[in-house]
Amino acid sequence: MGIVDLSDVPLIDAHAHPFLDCRPETVEDWEELFTLYKSVHEMPPGKKTYTVDGRPATVLIALLCRELAQIFRCPPEEALARRRVLAQELDQYTGMLFRDIRLQGMVVDFAFPALQRADFRTCAGVPVWEVIRIEPVIDELWRQRLDWETFLKRYRDTLADRLKQARVVGLKSIIAYRSGLSLEDCGFAGFKRAFTSACEENQPVPKLVRDHLVLEAITLAGEYGKVFQIHTGFGDVDIKFDQVRPSLLFPVLKEKRYRGVPVVLVHAGYPWVEEAACICRALENVYLDFSFLNPYVTFHLEEILGRIISIAPLNKIMYGSDGFNVPEMNWLGGKLARRSLESLVGRLVDEAVIGADYGKWLAERVMYKNAEELYGLDL
Ligand SMILES: [Zn+2]
Repeated sequence: MGIVDLSDVPLIDAHAHPFLDCRPETVEDWEELFTLYKSVHEMPPGKKTYTVDGRPATVLIALLCRELAQIFRCPPEEALARRRVLAQELDQYTGMLFRDIRLQGMVVDFAFPALQRADFRTCAGVPVWEVIRIEPVIDELWRQRLDWETFLKRYRDTLADRLKQARVVGLKSIIAYRSGLSLEDCGFAGFKRAFTSACEENQPVPKLVRDHLVLEAITLAGEYGKVFQIHTGFGDVDIKFDQVRPSLLFPVLKEKRYRGVPVVLVHAGYPWVEEAACICRALENVYLDFSFLNPYVTFHLEEILGRIISIAPLNKIMYGSDGFNVPEMNWLGGKLARRSLESLVGRLVDEAVIGADYGKWLAERVMYKNAEELYGLDL
């Protein structure tokens, strides 16, 4: 196996969320933190089944315990108890984890889970940039029962105010959790009609209105020279799973008026990563990050990165963790990404597909340079 040493390469996490000062104790607690069943708190206690035969029900948690044991230099069965003690000083503990993966910065969506920005910035200990999620803005304005003109003006003004802030590097949509990615451009008249009739009948925000507001947001991000992130692929039980394939976005993304705005397919549309990679290949302004699938796919990451890297241009692929709840998710994501890239690039060098220099350059692009360039991060 060719040796490509990536141990000195810094990382930028191109998509993450705040973590909380929470104190999981047991394997069951850890499985619950990373669960995609969601709505778990509404489940009767007896119905929770995060461990099986007293063991982690997912490879993710089993692997996490082993990795923590390595950094703590203790047996895996003692790792969670050690974590409980060390994480009492969360800032210091997070600092240790982030130094271990050479993390230099993060692009964060603060809409989930809710945590004060200032607290998180202190705790993260690395520079933090922000993307503004548009759905909470839409939902809040909808609750105010405004007429369509006022609604649209306030929507634009709110997003514009945020986009003017230096540490805000873009907007983000999770319409995949609302009405899905088949965006219909109903034009201004269609928006007005859909808005007014839903409002009169006291309905929730209709699909045509959401679609139009996403398109408005893409345009606005472009006007301020910033980036538009859109969730693609799986997420959790609330996702519109039949409406999340990246190819659903293709008709809109290829329209001339959006071709000047950088759009990031967040989560690389997993499990439809080839669709995301093909769109990046076909449209000059489209990028992807492989957050969420990393670290959730654990040992499978190398194979998935191979499928992405084989087709997507190398300036368009970004590392991300989608970390939330606990800093271990960002940390494990970083460890797996570095390891998988080392192994993948080593194999490609071995098979004479690329040279060692090119391999290292490729990994540097994916691990931090692409995010630094695209989001204009001042490290
Ligand atoms: Zn996310």
